[in-house]
Amino acid sequence: MSDGFEVIVVGAGPAGCAAAYSLARAGIEVLLVERAKFAGAKNVTGGVLYGSVLNGLMPEFWREAPVERRVHRHIISLLSEKSSVSIDYNTDGSGSPASAGYTVLRAKFDRWLAQKVEEAGGMVITGSRADDLIMEDGRIAGIVAGGDSIPAKVVIAADGVNSLLASKAGLGVGLSPGNVNQGVKEIISLPRQTIEDRFNVGADGGAAIHYLGFCTRGVHGGGFLYTNQESLSLGVVVQLRALIENRLRGVELLASFKEHPAVRELVKGGTTVEYSAHLVPAGGLRMVPRLFTDGMLVAGDAAALVLATGRALEGLNFALASGIAAAETVKLARDKGDFSRTGLSQYARLLGESFVLQDLSHFQRAPQFLDNPRLYSTYPDLACGLAGKVFEVDGQPKMTAWELAKAEMKGKVSLWQLVRDAMAARKTI
Ligand SMILES: Cc1cc2nc3c(=O)[nH]c(=O)nc-3n(C[C@H](O)[C@H](O)[C@H](O)COP(=O)(O)OP(=O)(O)OC[C@H]3O[C@@H](n4cnc5c(N)ncnc54)[C@H](O)[C@@H]3O)c2cc1C
Repeated sequence: MSDGFEVIVVGAGPAGCAAAYSLARAGIEVLLVERAKFAGAKNVTGGVLYGSVLNGLMPEFWREAPVERRVHRHIISLLSEKSSVSIDYNTDGSGSPASAGYTVLRAKFDRWLAQKVEEAGGMVITGSRADDLIMEDGRIAGIVAGGDSIPAKVVIAADGVNSLLASKAGLGVGLSPGNVNQGVKEIISLPRQTIEDRFNVGADGGAAIHYLGFCTRGVHGGGFLYTNQESLSLGVVVQLRALIENRLRGVELLASFKEHPAVRELVKGGTTVEYSAHLVPAGGLRMVPRLFTDGMLVAGDAAALVLATGRALEGLNFALASGIAAAETVKLARDKGDFSRTGLSQYARLLGESFVLQDLSHFQRAPQFLDNPRLYSTYPDLACGLAGKVFEVDGQPKMTAWELAKAEMKGKVSLWQLVRDAMAARKTI
């Protein structure tokens, strides 16, 4: 058994790196353990990172961090089988860089974060999986990794969705096909200039497109396309239950999404350089487990701290913020010399005061709302059908937009259902 550390953080994703960095910077002896060959090697995100939380931890991080492009074009696109209707929000990119969205590639980004932990004085070990927890007098007192027992006063489990350590500590989230989504993603290489021309963005400017509808063949989920410096991130995120019940596979959905007319021309000529799949917690507040026990705190996806509202899938900021809150909790507990569950209970308070639990609470009806099948087939089809009629001039007397809408809705959705869905949307997205 080694001499041990004050704190062990397991998992060098954003949650673990943020926790370890905060602790190291405060002069606390911390070990960050990561199972992959290097931090980020196997991690998956769409991914857009909104800068505010990281900027709080590392001011003006964008000057140094390996971010790809600053997103100033946001598009929401509804897809039917052959057409699309989009809302395109474009700005000149002159807003505050601190709160902007940045596209990131995790293999570069997480590696950089782990490097910052080392620079701050933390120890980082990669290629080492935490397999178990050390229990002493009923409390967690360290981890077992690579056959070695490493004691610590407190462990922060930031080992992602399906956290082994949280389960072992009785803090697991209870994944089920209805509360978890599967993300499948390709990175498609394209020349920088081609990306800037196709997406109408300037140097270092970026676009983020979110799709709903035929990208998932009309089942619970969505698609995304983000611009990186010299590649695109294209993917689908689909509820696991919807995949099982409809006998669909994420890889097949992604392949057909890539062929959709709204996407085909954007990815044309690109070469797939990376393919990955990952689960994302999607059960909202109800899925969040107890967040701490004697000698241990859980952060990020390991505690299901992800916001999925249909308007956004935001996990990176929730991971960073919960990692920072876990570190702050450890500092408070250390001052009192109390790492029992009482000493660590400040974690719930800190998360409750931040957007993390406030957003999950405010949008707690979102998972139920997102289970409405009309969102993924009826409404995208309606929007595309209506747009088709509006832009059709066939030599016949014309109808008003409302008459066209009523005709399009006939047999697909009643006005009553539409109003009820709009009322539900009002409270959830
Ligand atoms: C397809 C997809 C698209 C997404 N898009 C976005 C997006 O655009 N924006 C956004 O904000 N969020 C997005 N998310 C969600 C976001 O990626 C996650 O919420 C976020 O990565 C969670 O960070 P984390 O640090 O908690 O966990 P992770 O990033 O999963 O990191 C966990 C780390 O722990 C390591 N680990 C696991 N087990 C062990 C062990 N036993 N021992 C040692 N190390 C271990 C892993 O290797 C990993 O490095 C997306 C997710 C997916 C799957």
